Amino acid sequence: MLKQVQHDGRVWFAGLAFAVGACSTAPVPRPTQPATIQILAINDFHGNLELPKAPVELNGQQVRLGGAAHIAAKLSQLRAAGLPTVTVSAGDLIGASPLASAYYLDEPTILAMNQLGLDLNAVGNHEFDRGSEELKRMQLGGCQKYTSRQPCAVDPAFAGAKFRFLAANVKDAGGNTLLPGTAIRQMGPVKVGFVGMTLKQTATLVSPAGVRGLAFADEIATANEAAQALKAQGADTLVLLIHQGARVKPTFNVSGCPGLEGEVLPIVDGIDPAFSLVVSGHTHFAYACELPTSAGGRRLLTSAGRYGILVTDIRITWDPARRSVAGWRAENVPVVQGQPDSAVKAIVDRYVAAAAPAAARVVGTLAGPAPNNEFDDESEAANLIADAQWAATRNLGAQAGFMNGGGVRTGLVPDPQGRITFGQIFELQPFGNGLVVVELTGEQLKRVLEQQFTKDSYSPGERSRLLLPSANFAFDYDLAKPKGQRIVAMRLEGKPIEAAARYRITVNNFLVSGGDGYSALTEGKVIADGGPDLDALEAWLAKGQPVPTLGRTRNLAGN
Ligand SMILES: [Zn+2]
Repeated sequence: MLKQVQHDGRVWFAGLAFAVGACSTAPVPRPTQPATIQILAINDFHGNLELPKAPVELNGQQVRLGGAAHIAAKLSQLRAAGLPTVTVSAGDLIGASPLASAYYLDEPTILAMNQLGLDLNAVGNHEFDRGSEELKRMQLGGCQKYTSRQPCAVDPAFAGAKFRFLAANVKDAGGNTLLPGTAIRQMGPVKVGFVGMTLKQTATLVSPAGVRGLAFADEIATANEAAQALKAQGADTLVLLIHQGARVKPTFNVSGCPGLEGEVLPIVDGIDPAFSLVVSGHTHFAYACELPTSAGGRRLLTSAGRYGILVTDIRITWDPARRSVAGWRAENVPVVQGQPDSAVKAIVDRYVAAAAPAAARVVGTLAGPAPNNEFDDESEAANLIADAQWAATRNLGAQAGFMNGGGVRTGLVPDPQGRITFGQIFELQPFGNGLVVVELTGEQLKRVLEQQFTKDSYSPGERSRLLLPSANFAFDYDLAKPKGQRIVAMRLEGKPIEAAARYRITVNNFLVSGGDGYSALTEGKVIADGGPDLDALEAWLAKGQPVPTLGRTRNLAGN
């Protein structure tokens, strides 16, 4: 017998404990003591089932943190506080993952997250890496094949996520959301409304073919519309899970937001004051702080960095008498290597073992390390890929190859015998793209290269995210010049590119469909399909390669 009373124009559901035995003549009492709830949050996990290789600097120390079994153990430890608790994620849970997850279409990450008790995950841009149909399979389960990889290769009946993907701002032509946008959780006496969404620029960050027919709506308008609906359903306070973020210095903070700036801040400013917490992501920075609301109150903004290195332990105290949030606390707790959760470890071990033979297979040799560039500029690794892609498609008429710096996910370091494994090249290029030979005029090619200099959501202001050419092509650029005039020289085989001449180049299908903002590439005429990107790199390394030299691109301003 749940009783309702009107209060401040809202419906208040009195808890059973108060309602039982209540006589019809007496007013139904409602909780008057402040209640604290717990929200545990991660973001940008990117399928990091195993302990991530790269150490992070936290409190001035270099430490290695994370791994799904250790996240699970840390969550159990934090939940032992005994508060009403919910575990959430702010996007990029899957996609751009290490081999043990990516090789199996991130199915093991879904299984591990089911096991460790994730409840809600807002979609990020990488949830769309394999297209919206495959994303729906992640939620609903099944073994339908939507990519070049075979689903259900280890677990024959993949049942999908027990947690819920939220996508409030991802809408089809009819205006319906691809997945639910909101959820309500009764946390002790507090009814909490959750809204989940990705950044509105998602369509420019993923392969357009995979999000065809979908629109990514404005974050503030979407959040505020959802807020009205959740309040109408009786939500006491609201939480926004958003795959958009901020930057701080230093990069990873247990608490505080030193030097806070970034695209999520205007969103935080613009949303309904009823949002008492914004769990953010995408930038891979870690922070936790209080910010003012437009109504003169306060709210929390958090991010747990990336790859499950941290879990944000968020506590919100609700004062039922004043019908408002009375207290906040948020801290990024390092996922240290203690006793792992055995059930999650069993899932991780099963998939790591299944992937091991594929990962260990030697594909070829490289004379030395080929590092990547974290700012997506020219690097030995990017040049190596561009060379491989050109080599794989010369017989199809390709005159040069181009690789987007953002698709180069790591560097390559051969073993002492110079050997490179499939696991290494998979980590370098985890997206499973195909190669395409396209024909462009010299003028179109110039416009493609002009699109390298752009504003994006990863960094403040404008920056270059280069398209790295094969060894027979070079270009000079000058960032001091106005937009659209920065490419000052382009040479193929040492000869200047002519505006009216036609050129055949090889890029991946992500770029051909306008990915990374290269819309000018969609004007090209598709000449031939060049096969999987990894096959090209494998064939190239199989011949044994020197480390490519740098200098194919020249920044004349030198900044
Ligand atoms: Zn992201």
